This record gives sequence, C-alpha cells and structure tokens, in this order.
Amino acid sequence: METTGPRCSFCERVQDDEEGWFDVDVRVDEGEYYLWFCSQEHAGEWFRRPLPEPDEGTVIQAKPGEEVVGWLIFATIVLLVLGLLGIGLWTVIRWLFFDS
Ligand SMILES: [Zn+2]
Repeated sequence: METTGPRCSFCERVQDDEEGWFDVDVRVDEGEYYLWFCSQEHAGEWFRRPLPEPDEGTVIQAKPGEEVVGWLIFATIVLLVLGLLGIGLWTVIRWLFFDS
C-alpha cells in the first residue's frame, strides 16, 4: 500500500483512489493552513475542534518581506502620481505666467 501522498488532516489516512477528497486553505493571523480531507465529515470534525497550534508542515508563515514590498509599490505609485501632478501644475503655471 502506498504510504506517500496527501493525508487527511483529520484521520491521517493517505489519499487513495476513492472520490470525495478535497483540499481547503484556511487563513488565520498566524499564517495559513493547507488542509486535505478524505470526506466532508472529517472536514467538519476538524473545524469543530479548536485550531491546532501552527505546524511547520501545514502552515506557511507570511514572509516578513512581502508587506515591505507592498508598501514600496504603494509608495512608488504615490510618488509617480505626485510627480505627474507636479509636472502638470508646473506646465499650467508656466503656460499662465511665463508663456504669454
Ligand atoms: Zn479522514
């Protein structure tokens, strides 16, 4: 019998050829659970219990750098918009006061 492959997050049974297996991603403050269930009943049982401690194997911590990159992109867009606004304003001022 095969011992590798996805296991049911509730009963730890290795996935077989039976139908009805499905995966669920759960996002919590501490990270994300990548869950795999052999049946809806076991998914229901898993969610009925308190969330287990985040486990290295099943929880991917949000990378600390991702938030910084997001802010950098945001800051770049803001600077671009402000720059374009500045150029636009300067063009209007020049047109109004210096060109005529
Ligand atoms: Zn199961």
